[in-house]
Amino acid sequence: MYVDLAARERIAKDSAFWYQKAMETNGGILSMNSADANKEILLMNPVFKQMIWGGNKLGSKWGYEIPGENTGECWAVSAHPNGDCTVREGTYAGKTLSQLWAEEPQLFGNAAGDRFPLLIKIIDADDDLSIQVHPDDAYAGKNENGSFGKTECWYILDAPDGATLVIGHNAKDKGELEDMINNGRWDEFLREVPVKKGDFIQIDPGTVHAIKGGIEILETQQNSDITYRVYDYGRLQDGKPRELHIGKSIDVITVPAKSVEESVINIPSDAKNAMVPLITCDYYQVWKLDVDGGMEVSQEYPFLIMSVVEGDGLINGQQIKKGDHFILPGGFGSVQLQGKMELIASTIV
Ligand code: ZN
Repeated sequence: MYVDLAARERIAKDSAFWYQKAMETNGGILSMNSADANKEILLMNPVFKQMIWGGNKLGSKWGYEIPGENTGECWAVSAHPNGDCTVREGTYAGKTLSQLWAEEPQLFGNAAGDRFPLLIKIIDADDDLSIQVHPDDAYAGKNENGSFGKTECWYILDAPDGATLVIGHNAKDKGELEDMINNGRWDEFLREVPVKKGDFIQIDPGTVHAIKGGIEILETQQNSDITYRVYDYGRLQDGKPRELHIGKSIDVITVPAKSVEESVINIPSDAKNAMVPLITCDYYQVWKLDVDGGMEVSQEYPFLIMSVVEGDGLINGQQIKKGDHFILPGGFGSVQLQGKMELIASTIV
């Protein structure tokens, strides 16, 4: 009974948005399925990853069809060989993002590069992730078969009261770093900082980091899957400890660590109907959009990735809801967003 009511309310709400938009555009919205493929919204089919520390919230809270318990990651917009998303519908339905990057460069503003540069993930940590660090482009290119390094950032979607994350470390110099790691002085070594929903964190290569249990994030990162595991809390997977990468970790960890203030970025939480910048670095720009009613964005970037992380609404008359991830191609032009929803957007620099 409850489900029926909720579903009926949802349909009524969606139809109201649609009808309002149809009236405003004199029915223009109804004839919008037109030819220009660069006006098509590229909705993605995510790829899911089961992890030792994963849970089931990607199913229960997000409504995705997850492969089972312990689902830790939703690779929402990815062209990485370890998880290449396909387009959900339209002209390019069924094509992988890596295929589109190679075959339809105009969709990405003819941006340079041999692979799609970014990767967007939702991470649901039911348990603590291992303590890890990523290399930069130079180190990964040399030691990891030409892979990109990994710069990443996190928008905290949810966190329990009193939640903390590991960001950075307390070693003063390389000697102390090696001693703390080789002798398992983890309590002294690891720097834990408090975080809450809505915080935004930049993780440069060389930054020791770990997400802790109960935290849910949206991650925007370089298209890379290179992680060096420093410490795994002594956990076993299938009866064996997971591989550690101590030598490579010590090679790449930045000493001393960047200050907490430089890592955790406070964003104004009350700005509505605007693209609020979260960060610009060498690899990406990221924004938060809090849509309440309606707003317009001009898509003049090579491409613009968007993830709906809360609520629902319309984009140029098309229904979108929490859990949808899509790319607006280069030359897309005017983007009309309507409804009550939160989105995280990103593009290259
Ligand atoms: Zn990471």
